[in-house]
Amino acid sequence: MDLELSQRHVEFRDEVRTWLMENHPGRILSMDTADGFEEHRNWETVLFDGGWSVPAWPAAYGGRDCDLIEWLIYEEEYWLSGVPGRVSANGVSLLAPTIFNFGSQAQQDHFLPKMASGEHIWAQGWSEPEAGSDLAGIATKAIRDGDDFVLNGQKTWCSRGAYADWIFCIVRTDPGAERHRGLTYLLVPADSPGLERRPISRLDGEPSFAELFFDDCRVSAEYVLGEEGQGWGVAMAAAGSERGLSLRSPGRFMAAAERLAELARSIQGDGSTDPRLRDEVVDAWIRAQAYRWQTYQLAAGLMEGAEIGSEASLGKVFWSELDVELHATALRLLGDQAELVDGNDWLDGYLFALSGPIYAGTNEIQRNIIAERVLGLPRR
Ligand SMILES: Cc1cc2nc3c(=O)[nH]c(=O)nc-3n(C[C@H](O)[C@H](O)[C@H](O)COP(=O)(O)OP(=O)(O)OC[C@H]3O[C@@H](n4cnc5c(N)ncnc54)[C@H](O)[C@@H]3O)c2cc1C
Repeated sequence: MDLELSQRHVEFRDEVRTWLMENHPGRILSMDTADGFEEHRNWETVLFDGGWSVPAWPAAYGGRDCDLIEWLIYEEEYWLSGVPGRVSANGVSLLAPTIFNFGSQAQQDHFLPKMASGEHIWAQGWSEPEAGSDLAGIATKAIRDGDDFVLNGQKTWCSRGAYADWIFCIVRTDPGAERHRGLTYLLVPADSPGLERRPISRLDGEPSFAELFFDDCRVSAEYVLGEEGQGWGVAMAAAGSERGLSLRSPGRFMAAAERLAELARSIQGDGSTDPRLRDEVVDAWIRAQAYRWQTYQLAAGLMEGAEIGSEASLGKVFWSELDVELHATALRLLGDQAELVDGNDWLDGYLFALSGPIYAGTNEIQRNIIAERVLGLPRR
């Protein structure tokens, strides 16, 4: 395996790096507040106008047809540059691959360019109070009535659900069918009459996390993605990309590891660091690199026609635990300064990292998948 970047990739990396440096918007508000959400939408537009919103998509939809290796390089540069995170991540990373796979031509033409430009910001409406890990337990009903579905029920834990423009949902369209069979994947306009969005209080006080309540909410049947009743298959394809490559690329953790090393150097410049803490910094940095190379190997396989299977769960467990460790190490380095709330990105990051082992399928569930489908261990 050749671990050096080719000349073409070096030029690509320099082009991304230069553009990000020249267009860096500086620090903007949190995307989980109303004003911050709109600031992030503007940043999405800047990215789109510069041709850097969705580099791996076809040019026809605003991309530049990058291959997976170029996309990984782009992600590394993106996170290292310190520009704001992507408010469009749910759409671009989770929904877009599903639209490319299952969407009609009309749906692709309508939704993809608006997603790429930031005109439509998407949220994921899958979880319900009684359906998280057991996703097939979804109870929100969508009953066909003419050209519409009529939705009744409740979704929860909807990231940025309070401000998103559209929500991609899994709903039960055939309550009589066996659990996995009666589900449909439905794209729901967030301003639909009969849909109420209530913010859920978060530890950090930011109000974008939402519960969704559907009360005779009508949604056009033209927004079904894939076939009616095939929602489980469509959702599982999306979950593969969520846990696999697209949700958390290595660039994010490599950037955090670089910042951690920088923090260690700045605090412990006189060499007085606790050697165990120094080891933890080095260990976290090495693990970020390991995730990088494992991902390049996965990408190379995908480019040769392999598919992401249950192995995606290995990556999900690895990056989510690495993220907690990176941030916990930073807090240990900071000592009593770690508890300062204002302007302390490490504390914010740590609180968010704690949710990594929960969202995108909990790590306990991922370990079940690894045990049964990767290692072939018997089911209990
Ligand atoms: C920050 C954050 C953002 C999120 N964003 C979204 C979003 O945008 N859209 C969305 O739809 N959802 C979102 N979620 C919800 C997330 O997908 C669910 O929290 C997750 O799937 C777990 O479901 P649950 O909370 O109902 O827990 P449960 O499924 O009730 O699980 C509770 C505990 O039991 C364990 N458990 C359950 N079943 C098993 C089993 N069979 N074997 C072993 N252990 C088991 C779980 O691992 C967990 O520890 C988000 C969650 C978080 C924390």
